[in-house]
Amino acid sequence: MAAACERAGREPDSVRLLLATKTVEPARIRVAIEAGETLVAENRVQEVRPKFEALEDLRYERHFIGHLQSNKINALVPYISCLETLDRLSLARKLQNRLAGEGETLEVLVQVNTSGEPTKAGLDPDEVEPFIRTIAGLDALKVRGLMTIGLNAEPEVARPSLASLREIAGRIREENIEGVAMEELSMGMTGDLEVAIEEGSTIVRVGSAIFGSRPPLQSP
Ligand SMILES: *Cc1c(COP(=O)(O)O)cnc(C)c1O
Repeated sequence: MAAACERAGREPDSVRLLLATKTVEPARIRVAIEAGETLVAENRVQEVRPKFEALEDLRYERHFIGHLQSNKINALVPYISCLETLDRLSLARKLQNRLAGEGETLEVLVQVNTSGEPTKAGLDPDEVEPFIRTIAGLDALKVRGLMTIGLNAEPEVARPSLASLREIAGRIREENIEGVAMEELSMGMTGDLEVAIEEGSTIVRVGSAIFGSRPPLQSP
């Protein structure tokens, strides 16, 4: 990360490392947090609470980076400060209802499908601005930026998909939509984090480079 920042002429502290800890047991996450890491995210709602409870004595920030089904909102929201995968209006409305009822707010990133692969989650690039204009009216949701998985390919092949997230964020920033910040770009994983940093990432989400390879995810 430091080398990529240097190449891109960026300050090393302009990019945060997020530990993608799906399937990783709490004892190993603990080692990473005690070594100084401060940002952790899960993909599956059922892993969130047990890990929160096992690590309750530690201070760290928790995000969510998986697909969120709306019937699991209540099991997730108490444990996270940011949902990085907001991708549909029905979910945004249900989050708003739950949060507003409790007098709470939640930071969100809007997930964008920058690779055009039909199997990938996220809004199409041209849907992002109208979507954000709509959810800007939901006052419990604090829009902080965008998230993408990008094209799963060699880093140089993935680069245009990562660059496009920065371009979309730049266009939305110029619109100055009230209550909407475009300061976070969550992109870059083990295979492409350096290119992602060169293209403006502020959060790289890294799992296997830190914790080793993991068993394939079972569907929930
Ligand atoms: C698992 C995961 C990552 C990390 O992937 P690695 O290739 O192991 O670094 C990042 N983002 C999301 C959304 C993930 O599900």
